[in-house]
Amino acid sequence: MSSRPAHDLLSRIFGYDDFRGPQQAIVEHVAAGNDALVLMPTGGGKSLCYQVPSLLRDGTGIVISPLIALMQDQVEALRQLGVRAEFLNSTLDGDTAARVERELLAGELDMLYVAPERLLTGRFLSLLARSRIALFAIDEAHCVSQWGHDFRPEYRQLTVLHERWPDVPRIALTATADPPTQREIAERLDLTGAQHFVSSFDRPNIRYTVVQKDNAKRQLLDFLKVHRQEAGIVYCMSRRKVEETAEFLCKEGMNALPYHAGLPAEVRAANQRRFLREDGIVMCATIAFGMGIDKPDVRFVAHTDLPKSMEGYYQETGRAGRDGEPAEAWLCYGLGDVVLLKQMIEQSEAGEERKSLERNKLDHLLGYCESMQCRRQVLLAGFGETYPQPCGNCDNCLVPPDAWDASVAAQKALSCVYRSGQRFGVGHLIDILRGGENDKIRQFGHAQLSTYGIGKDLDARTWRSVFRQLVAASLLEVDSEAYGGLRLTDGSREVLKGQRKVMMRRESPKARERERSGQR
Ligand code: ADP
Ligand code: ZN
Repeated sequence: MSSRPAHDLLSRIFGYDDFRGPQQAIVEHVAAGNDALVLMPTGGGKSLCYQVPSLLRDGTGIVISPLIALMQDQVEALRQLGVRAEFLNSTLDGDTAARVERELLAGELDMLYVAPERLLTGRFLSLLARSRIALFAIDEAHCVSQWGHDFRPEYRQLTVLHERWPDVPRIALTATADPPTQREIAERLDLTGAQHFVSSFDRPNIRYTVVQKDNAKRQLLDFLKVHRQEAGIVYCMSRRKVEETAEFLCKEGMNALPYHAGLPAEVRAANQRRFLREDGIVMCATIAFGMGIDKPDVRFVAHTDLPKSMEGYYQETGRAGRDGEPAEAWLCYGLGDVVLLKQMIEQSEAGEERKSLERNKLDHLLGYCESMQCRRQVLLAGFGETYPQPCGNCDNCLVPPDAWDASVAAQKALSCVYRSGQRFGVGHLIDILRGGENDKIRQFGHAQLSTYGIGKDLDARTWRSVFRQLVAASLLEVDSEAYGGLRLTDGSREVLKGQRKVMMRRESPKARERERSGQR
């Protein structure tokens, strides 16, 4: 098939001069009647990949999307371009839905967006059987994966499309970057035979920075100062923290709004609308916010707590800078986050297989946070991509971190854990190391330990960083029974015996200053 009609359509209807990246190849492949699995980062331009072939082929393009808000936005945008597009979901009244169904049957629609649960009803499937279908587009295809955080059981049943309409091309799309999930999508949707179009997941305009938490609010404020009057998202772990953060930022004179699943639906919708339409809104949110938010000029995504996985982090930060202009992904994390997430995994009801997967995911993320290498290289390596040179646009590239030989400090820390019975948290361990005098030390007779006061050479802040890095490197583990208590691991014995050298990242206040002034 020639690319002429596709190109004409692109400029005539959408007003673009050229296809971007793999778009043209995908459009031609699908328009010619073939199946495709498209893996493209957020902002990569997935929509055109099914919109153009829908218009090129006879019949209606059926787009399956789990996101009602996004459906409405897309349909509205298409109508403005003169495309006959409609959607069917639970928000429509009966009369409107009946009209849309009539138009589908009469062949009067170019595109129809439909929620999966609606599509799978017997009524809708029989309607489809009597209509002319151009293609099936399965958007947000990672919803089929039960390991992902957006799992939708109905997605599992979408294979019915292939069974009933073997000749209608299917195109599944996702911004999910991790290879196991990609394989699962192909298998679950019966697309292993389809051509896979995999784009690079690099987002060169996003600058990645990780800072060590010491005064999270202050640090967030400093970060936001660089982004005055700009739109961005601040992700927080809990609903309570979302509200606190929004309130705090408002008091500091910022235009901040909260968003989480516990707010009434109308408040959520109103806040989302304001974020999309007004300038310079800072959205404080849980991860409930964001899927399908199409706002090109989000200038930053900040995480005030550790996200749950690298994949989630990548998706969340991917909402920044869709317009290609410079944007920042900023993550602030500390030992407390690590302890909390590790405990959440151990205490969850999940089976051992799932827990082990969650542990690996967390370790991967911690590896990213503690890395002294180019962040982009670490990030992309996790997604099976090799990034040849340091990127020059992340904190580690811009201000190379100092490494120090922390073997002796690590030995002191580990033997302190051992001597005190492997059940205390970091605060108390540091008190022992630094020879502190307080009730707890007296109560447990810890001034008599051989490790008492052997760590006076380092300040408490440095010790915190040592403990954090030990936990992140699995040289210490968090006891899921005792609150925040630390235990030795197999790896720690090697360090104690002097068989293993431990290099750590130095966190000097000076480096932090430089990091700050290096931004922008
Ligand atoms: P995704 O769904 O992959 O996140 P979208 O389809 O929403 O991405 O596209 C992201 C942005 O890029 C949109 O604003 C879209 O209009 C724009 N875009 C996509 N393809 C092109 C193109 N070929 N030329 C110019 N702009 C494009
Ligand atoms: Zn880099």
